[in-house]
Amino acid sequence: DQSALDDLMDKLVALRHQVALNADFKNFRDYQFAALHRFDYGPQDCEAFHQSIREKVVPLTTKRLEKRRKEMGLETLRPYDLSVDPKNQPALSPFKTSDEFLEKSIQCLNRIDPSFGALLAVMGQDGYLDLDSRKGKAPGGFNYSLNESGIPFIYMNASGRHQDIETMIHEAGHAVHALIDAQHIDFTPARSTPAEVAEVASMGLELISMGAWDIFYPDPQDLKRAQIEKLEDILASLPAVAKVDSFQHWLYLNPDHTPETRAQKWMEIEDQYSSRLIDQTGYEDLRKIVWQRILHIFEVPFYYVEYGFAQLGAVALWRHYLQDPQKALEAYKSFMQYGYTLTIPELYEKAGIKFDFSPQYIGELMDFVEVQLQKLED
Ligand SMILES: [Zn+2]
Repeated sequence: DQSALDDLMDKLVALRHQVALNADFKNFRDYQFAALHRFDYGPQDCEAFHQSIREKVVPLTTKRLEKRRKEMGLETLRPYDLSVDPKNQPALSPFKTSDEFLEKSIQCLNRIDPSFGALLAVMGQDGYLDLDSRKGKAPGGFNYSLNESGIPFIYMNASGRHQDIETMIHEAGHAVHALIDAQHIDFTPARSTPAEVAEVASMGLELISMGAWDIFYPDPQDLKRAQIEKLEDILASLPAVAKVDSFQHWLYLNPDHTPETRAQKWMEIEDQYSSRLIDQTGYEDLRKIVWQRILHIFEVPFYYVEYGFAQLGAVALWRHYLQDPQKALEAYKSFMQYGYTLTIPELYEKAGIKFDFSPQYIGELMDFVEVQLQKLED
């Protein structure tokens, strides 16, 4: 399907460029920033984010890969060496039944804040949860706000894996957010925040909850393993987001490109965000079209970088939490009261964090993550 998808992308780029011109924009990038209501940041902020990720995150992911290479006793890492447990351990198994899953999730949230656990308990009692995977059920997970009652609904596909814990806590973060803003804001359209903010509530709670994962993992080795993997996933996700965003900027600033120059540009960008430690020899043809797997590029152009911003916000929130749990939780709950009645930077400030993509700030956050990893691996 490579050439079919290339044709489709060519058509999309041309049409989108024309839409932008029709609306008196110079290019589709600038048009789409306006269409996505990005009032609080512009393309230059995204470029600063890309640059900081290259400077401050990529060296750290490279270090982690070098560690993996040694652990696996390999000369060079190949792409397929990245998605396995380096010590060849069986997958983590944090729970067996959905009752156990719910019970432990409630305990986990209670440890952070009893009101969070209480919300999940009520949702469980009153039928606001659909957790189990079953035949014929659509994949995915989400939290859905029910505006009248203020009690949200969580849908997911649990199957006893570690990822289920993160999904549950993630959606519980959205649920807490939905409940708190419903309690404080009557005008429904003013409640819903954009992903840059909403995902701080959910991704932030994932990180905060890590300290209570012993409820799922009584064995300290399992606990450490889950925590280390979580932090490594975060490190890997940031360059992945920056790469796709950077590529999209190029696509629409150069609407006359050909499939060949597009493939070339993708590889060039990939090189900037990937480690030289991964030997991709023999996969050159596949490397050129990896971007075609990313649905967002086709369907929701430019909607992607939000998750990188929010991930940084989540790390900052967690850092605050480890320094001063009580104050951090107050700030966490306080920013949710405002729904979307403040700007993104103002909401971040209420949450006790910064909306900042400077290499200084991102470097600080990455140093913090590295220290946490070192502590876990001591
Ligand atoms: Zn989310």
